[in-house]
Amino acid sequence: MDIEKTANHNLKCSICKNYLNVAPVLASEDGKIIKCGRCQLKGPHLKNRNSLYESIGAKLNFPCMNKECSSRMSWNDVQRHEKSCKHRQISCPFWNCREKDIRFPINSDISHFETSHPGSIHYGSGITLNLKVITHLQSFMKLLVVNDVPFLVLIHCIKFGEEVLVGVFGFDSKAYEYHLKIHSDQHDRRHVFFKESTMLYDEDQHCLYCLQNLCVLQSHRYSKVHPENKKDIYKFYSNVTTLATKTLLQTENLLFDISIFESKVNGEQED
Ligand SMILES: [Zn+2]
Ligand SMILES: [Zn+2]
Ligand SMILES: [Zn+2]
Ligand SMILES: [Zn+2]
Repeated sequence: MDIEKTANHNLKCSICKNYLNVAPVLASEDGKIIKCGRCQLKGPHLKNRNSLYESIGAKLNFPCMNKECSSRMSWNDVQRHEKSCKHRQISCPFWNCREKDIRFPINSDISHFETSHPGSIHYGSGITLNLKVITHLQSFMKLLVVNDVPFLVLIHCIKFGEEVLVGVFGFDSKAYEYHLKIHSDQHDRRHVFFKESTMLYDEDQHCLYCLQNLCVLQSHRYSKVHPENKKDIYKFYSNVTTLATKTLLQTENLLFDISIFESKVNGEQED
C-alpha cells in the first residue's frame, strides 16, 4: 500500500520534512516532535523509539524524497535509493562551500566542481597519485569522473604519512569496485593490490574534515561533536602502511594507481 493512501500521509519528520521512512523513528515525550533516521544525529536529542510506526511503515511504499523523481520504493529500499537516485542533491564537500550551502545534483551536473574546484576534478578511468605529493598535501579529495559517472576519492594521512587512507565513494545505482595498485616509481616488478567495492557516498559519514578532526557539524557522525563515534572512523578506507610497503617493494617512493570498474555480475570470469 502507498503511504499517501493511509491515515499517516501527513506525518513527516519534524526536522527534514521527509516521510518517516528511515529507522530509527524517534519521538519526544509529548509526541509533538518526531524525527526520522536521517536526522538521528541532529537535535533535539530524542530517546523514545516509535517501533509501532516503524512496523507500519515497513509495510508501505514511499515516493522518493526528490520531487523530480518518479520512483516509489519500499521501506527497506529507501536509503539505498536516496543515495543513488539520479536526482540526488549533495552539498559541496569543500569547506569553503559549506556555509554557502551549495547543493547540486551530482549525477547530472558537476559544473560547480568544474568552475569552483577545477584542480580537484579528474577525468579518466583512474588516477595515479605520488606518495610524495600525498604526504605533502596530507589530506585531500578528488572528484574522479569515469565515463561521465562521478566518484569522490578521499585521501588522508595518519601519523604524518606513515599510514595513508584511501576511500572511494559513488553516487550511482550500479555496483562498482576500485582497484588500488601500489608500486615503485622506479620499477614495476612487484606491486601491492587492494580490490574493494565502492560505497555509496553518505555526506554525514564520509567527510574529509571529520577525518582531520576539524569538523563540527552536528549531523556528521564523526565530527568533534560526537567523540564517542571516533573508534570506527577509518572503517570505510583502505589503509596503506607506507614504510612496510616501501620495504616490501624495495623502493624509496610509491605510486598509488586508483582505477574504477563496474562490478562483474556473479559467475562471470575475470580476464
Ligand atoms: Zn528527518
Ligand atoms: Zn529518486
Ligand atoms: Zn564547492
Ligand atoms: Zn564532517
